[in-house]
Amino acid sequence: MSARIIDGKAFAAGIRRRVADHVARLADQTGQVPGLAVVLVGEDPASQIYVRSKNRMTDECGMRSIEHRLPDTTTQAKLLDLIYALNGDEAVHGILVQLPLPAHLDPDLVIAAIDPLKDVDGFHVSNVGRLGTGQKSMVPCTPLGCLMMLRAHLGDLSGLDAVVLGRSNIVGKPMAQLLLRDSCTVTMAHSRTRDLAQVTRRADILVAAVGRPEMITGDYVKPGATIIDVGINRIERDGKQRLVGDCAFESCAEVAGAITPVPGGVGPMTIACLLANTVTAFCRARGLPEPEGLTA
Ligand code: NDP
Repeated sequence: MSARIIDGKAFAAGIRRRVADHVARLADQTGQVPGLAVVLVGEDPASQIYVRSKNRMTDECGMRSIEHRLPDTTTQAKLLDLIYALNGDEAVHGILVQLPLPAHLDPDLVIAAIDPLKDVDGFHVSNVGRLGTGQKSMVPCTPLGCLMMLRAHLGDLSGLDAVVLGRSNIVGKPMAQLLLRDSCTVTMAHSRTRDLAQVTRRADILVAAVGRPEMITGDYVKPGATIIDVGINRIERDGKQRLVGDCAFESCAEVAGAITPVPGGVGPMTIACLLANTVTAFCRARGLPEPEGLTA
Protein backbone atom coordinates (compact mmCIF):
# COMPACT_ATOMS: atom_id res chain seq x y z
CA MET A 1 0.00 0.00 0.00
CA SER A 2 1.37 3.40 -0.93
CA ALA A 3 -1.52 5.81 -0.35
CA ARG A 4 -1.68 8.09 2.64
CA ILE A 5 -4.74 7.42 4.77
CA ILE A 6 -6.95 10.43 5.40
CA ASP A 7 -8.08 9.92 8.98
CA GLY A 8 -11.68 11.16 9.09
CA LYS A 9 -12.06 10.19 12.72
CA ALA A 10 -9.22 12.45 13.84
CA PHE A 11 -10.32 15.20 11.47
CA ALA A 12 -13.90 15.04 12.79
CA ALA A 13 -12.65 15.21 16.39
CA GLY A 14 -10.80 18.41 15.45
CA ILE A 15 -13.98 19.91 13.91
CA ARG A 16 -15.97 19.01 17.04
CA ARG A 17 -13.33 20.70 19.23
CA ARG A 18 -13.60 23.85 17.11
CA VAL A 19 -17.39 23.70 17.35
CA ALA A 20 -17.18 23.33 21.14
CA ASP A 21 -14.79 26.31 21.42
CA HIS A 22 -17.08 28.43 19.29
CA VAL A 23 -20.15 27.39 21.27
CA ALA A 24 -18.39 28.41 24.51
CA ARG A 25 -17.59 31.83 23.03
CA LEU A 26 -21.19 32.25 21.82
CA ALA A 27 -22.51 31.35 25.27
CA ASP A 28 -20.29 34.06 26.82
CA GLN A 29 -21.29 36.56 24.19
CA THR A 30 -25.05 35.93 23.95
CA GLY A 31 -26.00 33.93 27.04
CA GLN A 32 -27.48 31.30 24.71
CA VAL A 33 -26.18 28.13 23.05
CA PRO A 34 -27.22 26.69 19.67
CA GLY A 35 -30.06 24.14 19.83
CA LEU A 36 -30.41 21.20 17.45
CA ALA A 37 -33.78 19.45 17.18
CA VAL A 38 -33.75 15.92 15.77
CA VAL A 39 -37.03 14.33 14.73
CA LEU A 40 -37.15 10.55 14.51
CA VAL A 41 -40.29 8.82 13.25
CA GLY A 42 -40.59 5.06 13.74
CA GLU A 43 -38.29 2.37 15.02
CA ASP A 44 -35.64 1.94 12.30
CA PRO A 45 -32.68 0.50 14.31
CA ALA A 46 -29.92 2.15 12.23
CA SER A 47 -31.65 5.54 12.54
CA GLN A 48 -31.99 5.08 16.31
CA ILE A 49 -28.25 4.43 16.70
CA TYR A 50 -27.43 7.38 14.48
CA VAL A 51 -29.76 9.76 16.36
CA ARG A 52 -28.35 8.65 19.72
CA SER A 53 -24.81 9.44 18.62
CA LYS A 54 -25.90 12.80 17.14
CA ASN A 55 -27.51 13.76 20.45
CA ARG A 56 -24.49 12.69 22.48
CA MET A 57 -22.08 14.69 20.33
CA THR A 58 -24.38 17.73 20.33
CA ASP A 59 -24.34 17.69 24.15
CA GLU A 60 -20.57 17.10 24.26
CA CYS A 61 -20.03 20.24 22.18
CA GLY A 62 -22.00 22.27 24.73
CA MET A 63 -25.05 22.70 22.49
CA ARG A 64 -28.63 21.82 23.36
CA SER A 65 -30.02 18.64 21.81
CA ILE A 66 -33.78 18.37 21.52
CA GLU A 67 -35.14 14.99 20.53
CA HIS A 68 -38.63 14.28 19.22
CA ARG A 69 -39.45 10.59 18.84
CA LEU A 70 -42.73 9.93 17.09
CA PRO A 71 -44.46 6.59 16.53
CA ASP A 72 -44.61 4.81 13.15
CA THR A 73 -48.28 5.75 12.94
CA THR A 74 -47.61 9.52 12.94
CA THR A 75 -49.64 11.30 10.27
CA GLN A 76 -48.23 13.75 7.77
CA ALA A 77 -50.27 16.57 9.37
CA LYS A 78 -48.95 15.81 12.84
CA LEU A 79 -45.35 15.74 11.63
CA LEU A 80 -45.80 19.03 9.76
CA ASP A 81 -47.31 20.61 12.89
CA LEU A 82 -44.19 19.64 14.83
CA ILE A 83 -41.93 21.14 12.14
CA TYR A 84 -43.90 24.41 12.19
CA ALA A 85 -43.60 24.53 15.99
CA LEU A 86 -39.82 23.98 15.77
CA ASN A 87 -39.56 26.67 13.06
CA GLY A 88 -41.11 29.12 15.51
CA ASP A 89 -39.07 28.04 18.55
CA GLU A 90 -36.29 30.55 19.24
CA ALA A 91 -34.25 28.01 21.20
CA VAL A 92 -34.05 25.77 18.11
CA HIS A 93 -31.47 26.81 15.51
CA GLY A 94 -31.22 23.57 13.54
CA ILE A 95 -33.88 21.03 12.58
CA LEU A 96 -33.07 17.60 11.26
CA VAL A 97 -35.67 15.04 10.27
CA GLN A 98 -34.04 11.62 10.24
CA LEU A 99 -34.49 9.85 6.90
CA PRO A 100 -35.78 7.47 5.72
CA LEU A 101 -39.31 8.22 6.92
CA PRO A 102 -41.98 5.50 7.08
CA ALA A 103 -43.48 4.93 3.61
CA HIS A 104 -46.75 6.81 4.24
CA LEU A 105 -44.89 10.08 4.88
CA ASP A 106 -43.64 12.26 2.02
CA PRO A 107 -40.04 13.36 2.70
CA ASP A 108 -40.21 16.16 0.10
CA LEU A 109 -43.20 17.77 1.82
CA VAL A 110 -41.56 17.43 5.22
CA ILE A 111 -38.25 18.95 4.09
CA ALA A 112 -40.11 21.77 2.31
CA ALA A 113 -41.78 22.65 5.62
CA ILE A 114 -38.46 23.27 7.43
CA ASP A 115 -37.38 26.92 7.71
CA PRO A 116 -34.42 27.05 5.24
CA LEU A 117 -32.40 28.98 7.83
CA LYS A 118 -32.78 26.05 10.25
CA ASP A 119 -32.30 23.37 7.56
CA VAL A 120 -28.97 22.05 8.87
CA ASP A 121 -29.11 19.08 6.48
CA GLY A 122 -29.16 21.51 3.53
CA PHE A 123 -31.88 19.54 1.72
CA HIS A 124 -34.49 22.31 1.35
CA VAL A 125 -34.87 23.37 -2.32
CA SER A 126 -34.07 26.92 -1.30
CA ASN A 127 -30.67 25.80 0.02
CA VAL A 128 -30.12 23.51 -2.98
CA GLY A 129 -30.82 26.45 -5.32
CA ARG A 130 -28.66 28.83 -3.33
CA LEU A 131 -25.73 26.39 -3.39
CA GLY A 132 -26.18 25.94 -7.15
CA THR A 133 -26.19 29.70 -7.73
CA GLY A 134 -23.21 30.42 -5.49
CA GLN A 135 -25.20 32.11 -2.71
CA LYS A 136 -24.81 31.60 1.03
CA SER A 137 -26.66 28.40 1.96
CA MET A 138 -26.76 25.52 4.37
CA VAL A 139 -24.55 22.84 2.79
CA PRO A 140 -25.41 19.11 3.10
CA CYS A 141 -23.24 17.58 5.80
CA THR A 142 -21.65 14.62 3.98
CA PRO A 143 -20.35 16.59 0.97
CA LEU A 144 -19.29 19.42 3.29
CA GLY A 145 -17.20 16.92 5.26
CA CYS A 146 -15.68 15.57 2.04
CA LEU A 147 -14.79 19.09 0.90
CA MET A 148 -13.16 19.94 4.22
CA MET A 149 -10.98 16.81 4.05
CA LEU A 150 -10.03 17.51 0.43
CA ARG A 151 -9.07 21.11 1.19
CA ALA A 152 -7.05 20.04 4.23
CA HIS A 153 -5.25 17.36 2.24
CA LEU A 154 -4.75 19.11 -1.10
CA GLY A 155 -4.95 22.82 -0.29
CA ASP A 156 -6.17 24.76 -3.32
CA LEU A 157 -8.40 22.51 -5.47
CA SER A 158 -8.48 24.94 -8.38
CA GLY A 159 -8.01 23.33 -11.80
CA LEU A 160 -8.01 19.75 -10.55
CA ASP A 161 -10.03 17.11 -12.41
CA ALA A 162 -12.72 15.75 -10.09
CA VAL A 163 -15.01 12.84 -10.80
CA VAL A 164 -18.06 12.39 -8.58
CA LEU A 165 -19.45 8.91 -8.87
CA GLY A 166 -23.16 8.94 -7.94
CA ARG A 167 -25.77 11.66 -8.55
CA SER A 168 -28.00 11.54 -5.48
CA ASN A 169 -29.49 14.74 -4.06
CA ILE A 170 -27.83 14.21 -0.69
CA VAL A 171 -24.28 13.37 -1.78
CA GLY A 172 -23.37 13.35 -5.48
CA LYS A 173 -25.06 16.53 -6.74
CA PRO A 174 -24.08 18.85 -3.85
CA MET A 175 -20.56 17.38 -3.90
CA ALA A 176 -20.23 18.28 -7.57
CA GLN A 177 -21.51 21.83 -6.87
CA LEU A 178 -18.99 22.31 -4.07
CA LEU A 179 -16.09 21.08 -6.19
CA LEU A 180 -17.20 23.31 -9.06
CA ARG A 181 -17.31 26.25 -6.66
CA ASP A 182 -13.70 25.43 -5.70
CA SER A 183 -12.87 25.61 -9.43
CA CYS A 184 -12.37 21.92 -10.12
CA THR A 185 -13.23 20.56 -13.55
CA VAL A 186 -16.08 18.30 -12.50
CA THR A 187 -17.46 15.18 -14.16
CA MET A 188 -20.48 13.41 -12.70
CA ALA A 189 -20.72 9.69 -13.37
CA HIS A 190 -23.64 7.35 -12.68
CA SER A 191 -25.13 4.01 -13.62
CA ARG A 192 -25.50 4.99 -17.30
CA THR A 193 -21.95 6.28 -17.70
CA ARG A 194 -20.11 4.50 -20.50
CA ASP A 195 -16.64 3.09 -19.86
CA LEU A 196 -16.60 4.21 -16.26
CA ALA A 197 -12.98 3.20 -15.62
CA GLN A 198 -11.82 5.46 -18.44
CA VAL A 199 -13.74 8.36 -16.87
CA THR A 200 -12.53 7.77 -13.30
CA ARG A 201 -8.91 7.30 -14.41
CA ARG A 202 -8.85 10.99 -15.38
CA ALA A 203 -9.65 12.05 -11.83
CA ASP A 204 -7.17 13.84 -9.57
CA ILE A 205 -10.05 13.69 -7.06
CA LEU A 206 -12.41 10.71 -7.06
CA VAL A 207 -15.46 10.83 -4.81
CA ALA A 208 -17.31 7.50 -4.75
CA ALA A 209 -20.92 7.62 -3.54
CA VAL A 210 -22.55 4.63 -5.16
CA GLY A 211 -23.61 2.20 -2.45
CA ARG A 212 -21.98 -0.82 -4.12
CA PRO A 213 -19.46 -2.68 -1.97
CA GLU A 214 -15.88 -2.41 -3.26
CA MET A 215 -16.97 -1.69 -6.81
CA ILE A 216 -14.01 0.62 -7.51
CA THR A 217 -10.70 -1.18 -7.79
CA GLY A 218 -7.19 0.11 -8.48
CA ASP A 219 -7.67 -0.09 -12.25
CA TYR A 220 -10.29 2.71 -11.96
CA VAL A 221 -7.80 5.03 -10.27
CA LYS A 222 -5.28 7.54 -11.66
CA PRO A 223 -1.87 7.10 -10.00
CA GLY A 224 -1.55 9.57 -7.13
CA ALA A 225 -5.26 10.48 -7.06
CA THR A 226 -7.07 11.43 -3.86
CA ILE A 227 -10.02 9.13 -3.16
CA ILE A 228 -12.93 10.03 -0.91
CA ASP A 229 -14.98 6.90 -0.31
CA VAL A 230 -18.47 7.87 0.85
CA GLY A 231 -19.97 4.39 0.56
CA ILE A 232 -21.11 2.54 3.65
CA ASN A 233 -21.98 -1.04 2.81
CA ARG A 234 -22.66 -3.89 5.20
CA ILE A 235 -21.35 -7.22 3.92
CA GLU A 236 -20.62 -10.63 5.34
CA ARG A 237 -17.04 -11.87 4.93
CA ASP A 238 -15.38 -14.85 6.60
CA GLY A 239 -18.58 -15.38 8.59
CA LYS A 240 -18.42 -11.84 10.04
CA GLN A 241 -20.46 -8.69 9.40
CA ARG A 242 -18.23 -5.93 8.05
CA LEU A 243 -18.53 -2.36 6.85
CA VAL A 244 -16.86 -1.66 3.52
CA GLY A 245 -16.82 1.30 1.20
CA ASP A 246 -17.52 1.63 -2.51
CA CYS A 247 -13.78 1.29 -3.10
CA ALA A 248 -11.77 -1.89 -2.64
CA PHE A 249 -9.41 -0.35 -0.10
CA GLU A 250 -6.21 -2.38 -0.59
CA SER A 251 -6.42 -2.37 -4.36
CA CYS A 252 -7.15 1.38 -4.60
CA ALA A 253 -4.52 2.26 -2.00
CA GLU A 254 -1.85 0.65 -4.21
CA VAL A 255 -2.49 3.29 -6.87
CA ALA A 256 -3.94 6.35 -5.11
CA GLY A 257 -1.96 9.09 -3.38
CA ALA A 258 -4.44 9.33 -0.52
CA ILE A 259 -7.66 7.59 0.47
CA THR A 260 -10.32 7.72 3.18
CA PRO A 261 -10.93 4.39 4.93
CA VAL A 262 -14.34 2.84 5.69
CA PRO A 263 -15.11 2.96 8.54
CA GLY A 264 -13.29 6.00 9.93
CA GLY A 265 -13.31 8.25 6.88
CA VAL A 266 -16.32 10.23 5.69
CA GLY A 267 -18.76 8.79 8.27
CA PRO A 268 -17.49 10.67 11.36
CA MET A 269 -17.26 13.89 9.34
CA THR A 270 -21.00 13.86 8.58
CA ILE A 271 -22.05 14.33 12.22
CA ALA A 272 -19.21 16.81 12.85
CA CYS A 273 -20.49 18.91 9.93
CA LEU A 274 -24.06 18.72 11.25
CA LEU A 275 -22.81 20.31 14.48
CA ALA A 276 -20.83 22.88 12.49
CA ASN A 277 -23.95 23.73 10.45
CA THR A 278 -25.95 24.22 13.66
CA VAL A 279 -23.40 26.76 14.91
CA THR A 280 -23.50 28.48 11.51
CA ALA A 281 -27.32 28.60 11.64
CA PHE A 282 -27.18 30.13 15.13
CA CYS A 283 -24.72 32.82 14.01
CA ARG A 284 -26.79 33.66 10.92
CA ALA A 285 -29.99 33.89 12.99
CA ARG A 286 -28.26 36.33 15.35
CA GLY A 287 -26.39 38.30 12.68
CA LEU A 288 -23.05 37.24 14.20
CA PRO A 289 -19.87 36.50 12.22
CA GLU A 290 -19.79 32.92 10.97
CA PRO A 291 -17.34 30.46 12.51
CA GLU A 292 -14.16 30.31 10.48
CA GLY A 293 -13.30 26.98 8.87
CA LEU A 294 -16.65 25.42 9.70
CA THR A 295 -18.52 26.43 6.54
CA ALA A 296 -17.92 25.72 2.85
P1 NDP B 1 -28.14 6.58 -3.95
O1 NDP B 1 -28.56 5.15 -4.03
O2 NDP B 1 -29.16 7.63 -3.76
O3 NDP B 1 -27.30 6.94 -5.26
C1 NDP B 1 -26.36 6.05 -5.77
C2 NDP B 1 -25.78 6.61 -7.06
O4 NDP B 1 -24.85 5.68 -7.54
C3 NDP B 1 -26.82 6.83 -8.14
O5 NDP B 1 -26.61 8.09 -8.74
C4 NDP B 1 -26.55 5.70 -9.13
O6 NDP B 1 -26.75 6.03 -10.48
C5 NDP B 1 -25.08 5.43 -8.92
N1 NDP B 1 -24.75 4.06 -9.26
C6 NDP B 1 -25.34 2.93 -8.82
N2 NDP B 1 -24.77 1.84 -9.37
C7 NDP B 1 -23.80 2.30 -10.19
C8 NDP B 1 -22.88 1.68 -11.05
N3 NDP B 1 -22.82 0.35 -11.18
N4 NDP B 1 -22.03 2.45 -11.75
C9 NDP B 1 -22.07 3.80 -11.62
N5 NDP B 1 -22.92 4.45 -10.82
C10 NDP B 1 -23.78 3.71 -10.11
O7 NDP B 1 -27.04 6.61 -2.80
P2 NDP B 1 -26.53 7.79 -1.81
O8 NDP B 1 -25.91 8.89 -2.58
O9 NDP B 1 -27.58 8.12 -0.83
O10 NDP B 1 -25.40 7.00 -1.02
C11 NDP B 1 -24.29 6.44 -1.67
C12 NDP B 1 -23.46 5.69 -0.66
O11 NDP B 1 -22.99 6.60 0.32
C13 NDP B 1 -24.22 4.61 0.13
O12 NDP B 1 -23.33 3.54 0.41
C14 NDP B 1 -24.60 5.31 1.42
O13 NDP B 1 -24.76 4.40 2.50
C15 NDP B 1 -23.38 6.18 1.63
N6 NDP B 1 -23.64 7.37 2.43
C16 NDP B 1 -22.73 7.64 3.42
C17 NDP B 1 -22.87 8.75 4.20
C18 NDP B 1 -21.83 9.03 5.23
O14 NDP B 1 -22.09 9.73 6.20
N7 NDP B 1 -20.61 8.52 5.08
C19 NDP B 1 -24.01 9.66 4.07
C20 NDP B 1 -24.87 9.34 2.93
C21 NDP B 1 -24.67 8.23 2.16
P3 NDP B 1 -28.22 6.35 -11.10
O15 NDP B 1 -28.58 7.70 -10.60
O16 NDP B 1 -27.98 6.30 -12.55
O17 NDP B 1 -29.12 5.28 -10.58
